[in-house]
Amino acid sequence: TYGEDAGDEDDLVVRPPVVTVMGHVDHGKTRLLDTIRKSNVHEGEAGGITQHIGAYQVTAQLEGNDRLITFIDTPGHEAFTAMRARGANSTDIAVIVVAADDGVMPQTVEAINHAQAAGAPIVVAVNKIDKEGANPQKIRQQLTEYNLVAEEYGGDTMFVDISARQNINIDGLLEAILLTADAALDLRANPAMEAQGVAIEAHLDRGRGPVATVLVQRGTLRVGDSIVAGDAYGRVRRMVDEHNEDVIEAYPSRPVQVIGLTSVPGAGDTFLVVDEDRVARQIAERRQARTRNALNASRRK
Ligand code: GDP
Repeated sequence: TYGEDAGDEDDLVVRPPVVTVMGHVDHGKTRLLDTIRKSNVHEGEAGGITQHIGAYQVTAQLEGNDRLITFIDTPGHEAFTAMRARGANSTDIAVIVVAADDGVMPQTVEAINHAQAAGAPIVVAVNKIDKEGANPQKIRQQLTEYNLVAEEYGGDTMFVDISARQNINIDGLLEAILLTADAALDLRANPAMEAQGVAIEAHLDRGRGPVATVLVQRGTLRVGDSIVAGDAYGRVRRMVDEHNEDVIEAYPSRPVQVIGLTSVPGAGDTFLVVDEDRVARQIAERRQARTRNALNASRRK
């Protein structure tokens, strides 16, 4: 986690936790992300359609308060490790999905290792409890071997029994994420600085040109800002969220699609806001030259 931010104590504002969903293949990661996304559709939205932009935010209730949670909308640990490899620690909390009818499998263990190496607290979602042969208690026993001891057994890991397919206890999972964030993390950021963060995914859109989904990690990103993302640069012309609604200001932990870059950054590239377009271009061009040189050097070998 990026934890406490620059600035005085007074400048720091609580930010939502950023969550990655990991686990063994077919244990229900994609279905879970879909179910959570759909459970949180804005009122009046036609058919509740949200576009896939690589991350989304939902509102959940904790002790009567509305709280936001940000989900990275790419299941599995590839995206997680790719971002870590580039130095962008994008995840605060890891949700490890384990199918209750299948149990702990090799990729479950891999996911736990990645989360623990990154220092991200884990919430275990015991999925598919609707299935015949589901044995949620067995999952709890199996995971004690990996230092994940359920609260009901005296540990400090929250296990939540769910069915992603039948929409059972998804609220309970969201609550557990918020409780874990409050207990284990001090998630605050200074919204009064120029924005920094990470590009989650990016592509070239026929109509809109380069489009990048960025996660703001600190500061506030605004329409009109000059940004550098990896070796791409440009002016933020427009920002939209997963509901395709315009966003004027994006606060810490908010994912938004940015339109206005002159080229496509890489997933996992960090971004920052600079004072002038000229500076953005200089930084980007210097990075492009460095990439070219490295490429040429490797070709000469
Ligand atoms: P992933 O590989 O971890 O992303 O797994 P998927 O989300 O693609 O799910 C794999 C299969 O399990 C799909 O056929 C899902 O419909 C099914 N599935 C996911 N969650 C549940 C659940 O809670 N109950 C049941 N019965 N099936 C589920």
